[in-house]
Amino acid sequence: VDRSVQADMDKLQTDFPGFRNKYRLIKRIGEGTFSTVYKAEDIMYDHFDNSWDFEDDSTKWTPPPLKRNTSNSSHRSPRRKARYVAIKKIYVTSSPSRILNEIELLHDLRQCPSVCPLITAFRHTDQVVAILPYFRHGDFRAYFRDMTISDIAIYLRSLFTALKSVHDHKILHRDIKPTNFLYDPATQRGVLVDFGLAEREGSDCKPCLCHESRDTRKQRQANSAWAQNSTNPQVGYPKSDTRSSRRANRAGTRGFRAPEVLFKCTEQTTSIDIWSAGVILLTIMSKRFPFFNSADDVEAMIEIATIFGTKRMKAAGLLHGCAFETSIPTVGQQGFSMEKIILWSTCRTDDKPLTPDEKLAVRFLERCMELDPSRRITAEQALEHEFLRVDNP
Ligand code: ADP
Ligand code: MG
Repeated sequence: VDRSVQADMDKLQTDFPGFRNKYRLIKRIGEGTFSTVYKAEDIMYDHFDNSWDFEDDSTKWTPPPLKRNTSNSSHRSPRRKARYVAIKKIYVTSSPSRILNEIELLHDLRQCPSVCPLITAFRHTDQVVAILPYFRHGDFRAYFRDMTISDIAIYLRSLFTALKSVHDHKILHRDIKPTNFLYDPATQRGVLVDFGLAEREGSDCKPCLCHESRDTRKQRQANSAWAQNSTNPQVGYPKSDTRSSRRANRAGTRGFRAPEVLFKCTEQTTSIDIWSAGVILLTIMSKRFPFFNSADDVEAMIEIATIFGTKRMKAAGLLHGCAFETSIPTVGQQGFSMEKIILWSTCRTDDKPLTPDEKLAVRFLERCMELDPSRRITAEQALEHEFLRVDNP
């Protein structure tokens, strides 16, 4: 173990003196923007209690019985199999309300299939740690290029099972991407982690045009066009714009943000997670990671417009009251079909077209990457889609 990592682990043990009897820290397994995660052995579990068999199947976890049995932790029974936990040390720079939010949502979701459950959490002054069952997983970049269509369907079934239960709880995850969905290609099981950016639907929300009925929206657009033509004939940007600037939650990871997040929709729904899951599927099928590689939101809009074309991108912007204009010559009016994008990215020519299975996957992809969030497939519908249905081998 690296010296600085060892120093961090020592510090954790000093901050939480009780840890020494509960967990044996093994190594650092993750370091992100908001936390450091360690793998540790749980040395206090009751080895006759099968509900604690995390590593083998975190998805079948049930809360442990309220039993304190420390006396036999030192002399191990030969039948004892090690159990591992992930200790997530949340950076002290995170606001208390943010930390509380993550822990609270994890607690609400503790019974959900394919969601990594929270075992417990500790606080020492400003330091909070969350204890989760350790879930063995592969590195996405190492396995995604080798996935067959049936592997992809199994991977997505697991991801959409998690999304369905999260969305049933009216929670937006907001940060769906490969590093937050731990997947073990050997067992073909996955769990969703990292609720650090998650929020309840409707919190921090102001009405957005996209939630008006289509008729009301058309009427309003016609009215405003008329008003502009009659009272304000000059085109271009107003010199002194008195409208307050739009504020919307744009948290997430670049390349995975849904169009409505980029258009600063103020009434975002759980469908933003479906778009991000679609980006994962596009990544796997195109064999390119990262698929979108924008430095900022404006570039991200250009990347999406390149695929979908300016015509559809403009319509998508208008849903949220945004005008989309670009003079970049490579962005065409019509865009391209997903099938073409995948054929090009994988360097396949027209003499090697997509197989029927691949075409089915592409049809599913198009339902996930609908520009209009209200038309996008839901997690529940996705699990019923021909591509993900369990009876589809
Ligand atoms: P962050 O907010 O810092 O991104 P995450 O919850 O996403 O924190 O965890 C960061 C990384 O730590 C994950 O990408 C994963 O590699 C590892 N990790 C997190 N939870 C677990 C777990 N329960 N089992 C195994 N590894 C985990
Ligand atoms: Mg993460």
